[in-house]
Parts: sequence; structure tokens; C-alpha cells
Amino acid sequence: MIIVMKPRTPQEEIMKIRNKIQELGCEIHESQGVNYHIFGLVGNTNTVDPDRILAIESVEKVIHVQEPYKIANRLFHPEDSVIKISDKKIGGQNFAVIAGPCSVESKEQIISIAEDVKSAGAGFLRGGAFKPRSSPYSFQGLREDGLELLKIAREKTGLPIVSELMSTEHLERFIEDVDVIQIGARNMQNFELLKEVGKTRKPIILKRGLSATIEELLLAAEYVLAQGNENVILCERGIRTFETYTRNTLDLGAIPVIKKLSHLPVIVDPSHAGGLWWLVDPMAKAAMVVGADGVMIEVHNDPANARCDGQQSLKPEKFSTLMNSLKELARIQGKVIN
Ligand code: PEP
Ligand code: MN
Repeated sequence: MIIVMKPRTPQEEIMKIRNKIQELGCEIHESQGVNYHIFGLVGNTNTVDPDRILAIESVEKVIHVQEPYKIANRLFHPEDSVIKISDKKIGGQNFAVIAGPCSVESKEQIISIAEDVKSAGAGFLRGGAFKPRSSPYSFQGLREDGLELLKIAREKTGLPIVSELMSTEHLERFIEDVDVIQIGARNMQNFELLKEVGKTRKPIILKRGLSATIEELLLAAEYVLAQGNENVILCERGIRTFETYTRNTLDLGAIPVIKKLSHLPVIVDPSHAGGLWWLVDPMAKAAMVVGADGVMIEVHNDPANARCDGQQSLKPEKFSTLMNSLKELARIQGKVIN
């Protein structure tokens, strides 16, 4: 349920309503703009009689929220959420470029790629340390050593680091070491993991599950938000369809849909979506045009010999060319790349 206050309602009146709702045992999520003040109610709202609330002079309207996701709902927060990470922002007018290898492989590899993506204009470095591989015989990542190497690359370049957390067992370490925790597609509905990252205040990139609907993605985000962590960034990374030419099917339409339904930033990962390096450039540009808040791109200095996802990784020169196109598009779209 949403309670919208009349514009310019005095603070004392706002406080009175807040106390009243709290007495009824509901959890409140308040959202405030220049001309509005909204109370979003979650939990058992049966105790709240909408007619009695509407009878209060300063209340403009009471809306029943139909969708099962509440805090993620745009009705709860009409303006875009902007997530702050170091000196950077994701959401609103900002367009985030997160780039780096699928997996951290060695010190030389991660530093060389970090320097290349930084000089091309990327704002964040990605790199997997714990890898969710389909086969148990494939490279599983350098694990803790990978995190150490990412920290060295951050030290050298100043780029905040993004890495995937697969188990609550490593959560403390990730809180210490990384700037953004990635929850991968395979763990989108690992609800215990979502609850645990929800208890932190770390920015979370939540990737859409392999066959998850938009509503399921928003409900997964709701798990994190419900624990008090508002720093959630959604990521469309392609979904399973009958098409086999591409690794997945990039659901570009999901971007404007999510922007309409939710205030959370949403980025696109064209690398895992298409699975082919030459598709990354056009799909990343398309992502910017349909209103995404950023892209996550796999870049490798030697794709032919990459230990993971080389076929979908851009060489640094190709990434640099893409960055130049994105910078031009950003000007037209009124976005700031960071
Ligand atoms: C990744 O980003 O390296 C990854 C494994 O992605 P996804 O979870 O989308 O498959
Ligand atoms: Mn990958």
C-alpha cells in the first residue's frame, strides 16, 4: 500500500502519519522528492483501513500495490535510484561501463586488462575469482588468490572492482575486498544468499536467471531490499530461448519494461547474452539506446587462450572502439559515462 501526502504537507503532520502507521505494525519505506512525500507500506497491511487514512486531511491518495514486489516497485520510489560506489554513480543520468575478463588468470593478465579498460574510459573492473562453471572439470577460478589480484589491479588503476559471490561462506571476505558483489544468473534464486547480501550495505549486481521472468528478477531483488540493502543494480544477461545460434537471447525489451516497473538501475551484459565477441559492440550500443544504465563487458588481452569465455571477449582495441561509440551515443542520450 502507498500513502501519498499532499504537496507541502508540514513536517509535524508527516511525523503524525508516520507514528500512526508504525502503531499499526507496518514497515515503512519513505520516499521524498521536491513536491512529494510517499509512505510505502510492507508487511501485514490488513490492519490499515484505507478509508480512514484517506479521511486524513493531508493525505492525497492511497494506492493498493498489485505487484508482489513492493520496495523494488516504482510506485514506492518514483524517481530513479542512484547507487553510489566510491566516486561513481550507477542510475539516473549515469551510464556505467564495467569491463574486464571473465576470470582473473594471473597478475600480468588482470593488470594489463585493467590498465587497458581504464584508458579506454571504463569506470569499473570486473573479474571472476569464484567461477560458476557448467562442468566441474572446467577452470573454477583462482578463488581467494583472484581477489588478491583484483585488489592489486584496483590499487594500480583506481577502478572499483566487481566480482561474483557464489556462497555465503565467502561473504565476509567479499565485503572486505570488493566494491560491488555480483550475484550470478545461476544464483538469482538462491534466496538464502540473497538474504545474506541483503543484510550488508554493499552494492549488489543481480543478474537475471537463465530462464527467469522479469517479475522473478524483481522478486529476487526484493529479497535483498527487504533486508535493508537498497543498493541493488539489475542485470539483463540474456535468457534461454529456442534459438541456438547465440548463447542466450538478449531481452532488450526487458530494459524499458524494468525501467517502467522499478526504480532500480538496470545494466546489460552483451557478452554472456550473445556469446560471440562480434555481437558485443552492436548489442552494447543497443543497450544504451533502449535506456540501460550501463553495460558489463568481457575484455581479454588474449581471447584465443582465455581460460573462460574467450569467444565472447573483446580485445582491448575493439573495446576502445566501442567506448568511443558509447561516448558519442551518451551525448545524444544525455547520459554521463562513469
Ligand atoms: C559472469 O559474469 O562471469 C557470469 C558467469 O555471468 P552469468 O551469471 O550471467 O552467467
Ligand atoms: Mn564469463
